[in-house]
Amino acid sequence: MDRVPSRPEPRAGILDIAPYVPGKSSVSGQPTKHKLSSNETPLGASPKALEAYRSINHLEHYPDGSAEELRQTLAKIHGLNADRIICGSGSDEILSLIAYTYLGQGDEAIYSQHGFSVYKIAIMAAGATPIVAPEKNLTTDVDAVLERVTNKTKVVFIANPNNPTGTYLPFDEVKRLHEGLPKNCLLVLDAAYAEYVRRNDYEAGISLASSADNVIMTRTFSKVYGLAALRVGWGFGPEHVIDAMNRIRGPFNMNSAALAAGIAAAKDQDFLHKAIAHNSEWLPIVTEQVTQLGLKVTPSVGNFILIHFSEEKGKTAQDADAFLQSKGCILRQVGSYGLPNCLRMSIGSEAANLDVIAALKEFLHSN
Ligand SMILES: *Cc1c(COP(=O)(O)O)cnc(C)c1O
Repeated sequence: MDRVPSRPEPRAGILDIAPYVPGKSSVSGQPTKHKLSSNETPLGASPKALEAYRSINHLEHYPDGSAEELRQTLAKIHGLNADRIICGSGSDEILSLIAYTYLGQGDEAIYSQHGFSVYKIAIMAAGATPIVAPEKNLTTDVDAVLERVTNKTKVVFIANPNNPTGTYLPFDEVKRLHEGLPKNCLLVLDAAYAEYVRRNDYEAGISLASSADNVIMTRTFSKVYGLAALRVGWGFGPEHVIDAMNRIRGPFNMNSAALAAGIAAAKDQDFLHKAIAHNSEWLPIVTEQVTQLGLKVTPSVGNFILIHFSEEKGKTAQDADAFLQSKGCILRQVGSYGLPNCLRMSIGSEAANLDVIAALKEFLHSN
């Protein structure tokens, strides 16, 4: 007879999952001046979103489980059918719902080498097998993804632009990827940073998710809208996909404060444009100034840059991280993304950006 375990045991594969490593928010013994570790916006949330958040006082009432008003607001802004939108507690929840809906034991799901680390967790949590496609120039390689497709492949996750590399796929490449996938394989276009992208050849995914039966786009209010604390994300896809996901979604998966703030933030497009303008101004300045210090920077279309350090003792990414922390600046180590010689820096306020550049200069000149 099988031996009965002496305590509950997670099902197969759960303990193989490496927990998500979030960006640091403080360093012990050091006051934090600038937190640039989680791609948060330096402008904060829209004052209208804050006001809406504070207006929630009937805490005894359940939230609107269908997120009706938020879906209608998003539909209007983006020109979409509200029935094809699903809202979640951050886009992380949408990504998990996709995995739980479409993946199970024996299935495979593909993401790229330095892709967003939530994909691997969601795939494994669903009991499926993660398959990694190598990148070229720190960019998703469409051919490498297509080469890895088998009859077990049920989902492909692409962050476009990708975090932590900041690189993106032009729409032509996304279309080529989609055309090469079997019709039963769901293509997930994670467009968490779409608002920041200023490229004519970029498309977040709305047109493909509108027309194809196997494409879903995910979006978030955590980044440019500044609502990371409240957890507001959404997905737009074919009705049959949204319907399937709604069957396993928690009936009240978003709270009332998140809904109210999300609606107000979405309606405040002037504030959105201010946040985008700030990034469009500072992304090239920071990229250029860090490059002038002699550090390689991967060209980014998001609100963060990937800075490459040397392997020389005393000058590594870890040394730089420690030095920056001693100056109160927190960046993101990305060793868990297979980029041990890099740090990711979110574009911050003017003061934050200039302080980091000055600290990097000092670091490089120190012995
Ligand atoms: C930050 C981020 C998300 C979103 O996160 P939520 O806060 O859960 O909405 C999704 N995908 C990528 C690539 C991200 O960087």
